[in-house]
Amino acid sequence: MSLDDQAEELASALGIDKQEVKSKLETLAEYNVPMDEAVQSVRREYGDSGAAGAVISEKQVGEITPDDGNVSTTVRVLSVGKRSIQYNGERHVIFEGELADETGKISYTAWEDFDLSPGETLAIGNAGVREWEGEPELNLGESTDIEWVETELAVPYEIGGESTLESLEPGNRGVTVEVQVLECESKTIEGRDGETEILSGVVGDETARLPFTDWEPRAAVTEGNTIRIEDAFVREFRGAPSINISEFSTVTELPDPIGVVQSAPRKQIGDAVTSGGLFDVEVVGNIVAVRDGSGLIERCPECGRVIQNGQCRAHGEVDGEDDLRVKAILDDGTGTLTAVLGDELTAEVYGGGLDKAREHARDAMDREVVADDIRQSIVGHEYRVRGSLSVDEYGANLDATAFGPHEADPAEQAAALLTEVQP
Ligand SMILES: [Zn+2]
Repeated sequence: MSLDDQAEELASALGIDKQEVKSKLETLAEYNVPMDEAVQSVRREYGDSGAAGAVISEKQVGEITPDDGNVSTTVRVLSVGKRSIQYNGERHVIFEGELADETGKISYTAWEDFDLSPGETLAIGNAGVREWEGEPELNLGESTDIEWVETELAVPYEIGGESTLESLEPGNRGVTVEVQVLECESKTIEGRDGETEILSGVVGDETARLPFTDWEPRAAVTEGNTIRIEDAFVREFRGAPSINISEFSTVTELPDPIGVVQSAPRKQIGDAVTSGGLFDVEVVGNIVAVRDGSGLIERCPECGRVIQNGQCRAHGEVDGEDDLRVKAILDDGTGTLTAVLGDELTAEVYGGGLDKAREHARDAMDREVVADDIRQSIVGHEYRVRGSLSVDEYGANLDATAFGPHEADPAEQAAALLTEVQP
């Protein structure tokens, strides 16, 4: 539609002079404002919400694409999360979550408090659509018109944001979980308003373990407690989901402890690496090599970095401190990763701690003998490794919490055999 036609249509819809509308649209166009938004802006100026206008199409959730300018839709509220953000140097309280109909679900951000609650059915008029990580997202703002609908819209989704840890994804808002606090420590960080105290640690339920941060330390968030967290949001931390308890979240202590998964989900290395990061995972593979920087190593006493020839990259010449570490390359046919073993696991693999390693190195007059020994005993064998996987430009590293030879259990062997004999 040409600008002239737009002006004509808009003028008749608003009942005002066409020339007046046209010059406003032209001005906005000169500022590179997209036509859809320019039309909305003029509508707002004349006090029209736009819901009845021809420009805004009524769509089902599944039909909305990032290319839609503005849409109207009837949906059920799945979740409502409250959050404060810094925007143009000011603090704003916004609401975020998910909406759905029978064709799909969509994230939303409400820039005003519409007093939404999970379970409500809404007829939304004139919501803006923007793209967020390739997906459409609805923006509910000043020019959005919301009507509460009596008849409940049936949707094939859980209402209320209740979730298990396993199904959480970065970006989730208004989340409710029931978990046990497995680890918790207090930290002082440099915040926007100076030093602030936060809590961080690990929570677990029957499906998974995940890291968390409590930005407003609460007494109920204590190691061993079982708690219900309402209105949390999920961020990505080293490629894995991390639960954030904000100033708007509610934490209640539950009287009965809940079960926590003992084993980590087993994944193929290829899938694990493609996922971008996993907080707690188990893989099985062959050790194909032990990398340099393994065995008896030296760390900078200032920053803990591994140093070579007494030189730290950050602190220059330092008096190194001995430590034990293994960086082993694990391969299962679908992919490879580097399993990183700390001092305790390394001592188990090596069959002795720092004292034995130092003596060994002294006798041989070569520190490399420790890594060589470890290399001899583990390369070419199959191991099961559990830990936290992070993937970045330097590769995939699995920070090991458990490491041991893989002995296939009889059920597993039977299953593998069955797969082999099947045509
Ligand atoms: Zn250093």
